[in-house]
Amino acid sequence: MTVPYITLAHRDRSYRPVWGRIDARRLHKILNRRLCQVCGAPLTDQVVVFLRPDDYALGVASEPGLHPACAEYTTQACPVLAGRIHRYNPHPEVRSTECDDPRCDCRHWSRTPPREPQPPRPIEAWYAIHLPLTEYRVLTIAATDTNPEITGIDVHTPSLLHRVRRIRASADPASGTDPLKLLLITSAMFGGERP
Ligand SMILES: [Zn+2]
Ligand SMILES: [Zn+2]
Repeated sequence: MTVPYITLAHRDRSYRPVWGRIDARRLHKILNRRLCQVCGAPLTDQVVVFLRPDDYALGVASEPGLHPACAEYTTQACPVLAGRIHRYNPHPEVRSTECDDPRCDCRHWSRTPPREPQPPRPIEAWYAIHLPLTEYRVLTIAATDTNPEITGIDVHTPSLLHRVRRIRASADPASGTDPLKLLLITSAMFGGERP
């Protein structure tokens, strides 16, 4: 699998990238310059944003946008989006290793696992929305008692109705009908794609 531009990796990006962990500096650059999180090139006319029901409820998607072709590739190659795994790896930082390159930053990566071992979380449903670049806006939501500050993509854009597509179902049997599924059902009623 291609190592996405946003993934934390060594200077030699093909050597054991830390899947599931984001390079904070690259994330910042991607959001500021409106680059694709997979190939790192500037986004063009149409942008795909992946989101979960909770992102939609908050109004901000934490995953930066992608080119439609990069999104298509990721949907098939990423084990989460392709539905090949059902639980997130709880401690991606523990898998990171050091390399031999003295100019690589990997010595400064944190490797402390959280004190309380967390059970792996079931993977939520994932959706994709298509936005014209003119509606692709970066937004920061202030921290609350329950959530940290979140910077991501504004997903409360107008006319989302016909732009939502489901990528995978939730792996959590307790999850009910989510707001994005309702949006899809509504969209189908008005002649859009069936959920
Ligand atoms: Zn390294
Ligand atoms: Zn791309």
